[in-house]
Amino acid sequence: MPTDDNNFKSFPCHGYAVHSATSPLVPYNFERRALNPKDVLISIEYCGVCHSDIHQAHNDWSCGRYPMVPGHEIVGLVKAVGEQVTKFAVGERVGVGCMVDSCRACDNCLAEEEQFCLKHMVMTYNDVEMDLKTPTYGGYSDCIVVDEHFVLRMPENLDPASAAPLLCAGITTYSPLRHWGVGPGYQLAIVGLGGLGHVGVKIARSMGAEVTVLSTSPEKASDAEMFGAHHFVDTGDPLALPKLHDCFDVIINTMPVNFNLDLYLNLLKADGALISVGMPAQIFSFNPFSLQMKRRSLCGSFMGGIAETQEMLDYCGEHNITAEVELIHPDDINQAWENIIAKKARYRYVIDCHKIGEQR
Ligand SMILES: [Zn+2]
Ligand SMILES: [Zn+2]
Repeated sequence: MPTDDNNFKSFPCHGYAVHSATSPLVPYNFERRALNPKDVLISIEYCGVCHSDIHQAHNDWSCGRYPMVPGHEIVGLVKAVGEQVTKFAVGERVGVGCMVDSCRACDNCLAEEEQFCLKHMVMTYNDVEMDLKTPTYGGYSDCIVVDEHFVLRMPENLDPASAAPLLCAGITTYSPLRHWGVGPGYQLAIVGLGGLGHVGVKIARSMGAEVTVLSTSPEKASDAEMFGAHHFVDTGDPLALPKLHDCFDVIINTMPVNFNLDLYLNLLKADGALISVGMPAQIFSFNPFSLQMKRRSLCGSFMGGIAETQEMLDYCGEHNITAEVELIHPDDINQAWENIIAKKARYRYVIDCHKIGEQR
C-alpha cells in the first residue's frame, strides 16, 4: 500500500491482471495517477467478483483491453485527498462502483444519469479515461485513485466485505425496482438467483413487493426463502412456467446467458415489463406477438447514476441489506472464476485485498 501522500507523485499499486482473453489472472504491478485536486486515493479493503469481470476478461463482449485489472465492487478507506476535495476526509470508508468518470455536461449527466453519458462514461476497468488514452484498472488491486464525484459513502453499520457487492449487484437491481415503481401490491419475479438475483430479492422484499424467484437450481429454494422470496419456481420443470402466464407486473432477468424470451414475456400481466439486467453475450430474438397481445414491454436497465447509487447504499444501510459473500484470498481468484462459471458460487466471492502481496 502506498504511504506516500505527496500529491505530485503517482502511487505504486499491486493487483491482478489478465494479459489476454485466454490467460489467467496473474500478479501485476502498475501505478495509479498522482492526485488531481478533486481526486481521492483509496486503500482497497475488499472487491467483489462480478460475473461481468469474467465476460470482460474473456472478451465475450469484444471490447477487451489488455492487460486488464478487473473489479468494480470496491470498498476501502480514504488514504489521501486532493486539495479541492470536499466530500471525503482521510480515514472514511468509501465505495467505488462500475464507473469512475463521465463528461458531467451532457443532458444525461446533468440529469444525474452518468451511466448514460452521451460523450463517454468511463468504466472502472477495461476502459480509457476522458483523455481517451489512459487505461482504467479496477479493484482487483490494493489502491485506486478516483474523482470524488464518483466515490460513494459506505453506511457505517454494514459489514464492508458484505456491502462491496452493493456497488454493482445492488445498484443494478435497485435502479430498475425504483424506476418501475415496484412496491406493495406488485407481483415481481426475479429470474436467476446468483450475485445480482439474491441482492435483488432482498431489496424487492424490503420494498414490499410479493417476490417470486424463477431459477434453474432447485437446491436454492430454501436460500431464496431466507433472502425474503415468497415463492420459488424451478424452471427446469417444463410444466412450471406455463402455469404462471399473466402473473407478474415486473420480471427482472439477471441471467448472464441466453434464454427463451417468449416463454418469460408470457408470464407478464397486461402492461407488464420484462427488464433485462443480466448481460449475455448472445443476441436474443422474440415473437412480437408476445408483447403486442398484452401491451407488454421489454426493457433494459444498466447500473444507476451516482446519486441513485448513494441513495441505494443509504437505503441498504437503513434496511440492513448486504450480499451473501465468501471472502477469498487474492491467490484464489482464478478458482473463484471457475466456480462462478460452474454455478457453484454462494452467492458472491469477495477478494480480501488486504492480503494482496502477502505470503500465505
Ligand atoms: Zn458487476
Ligand atoms: Zn455526459
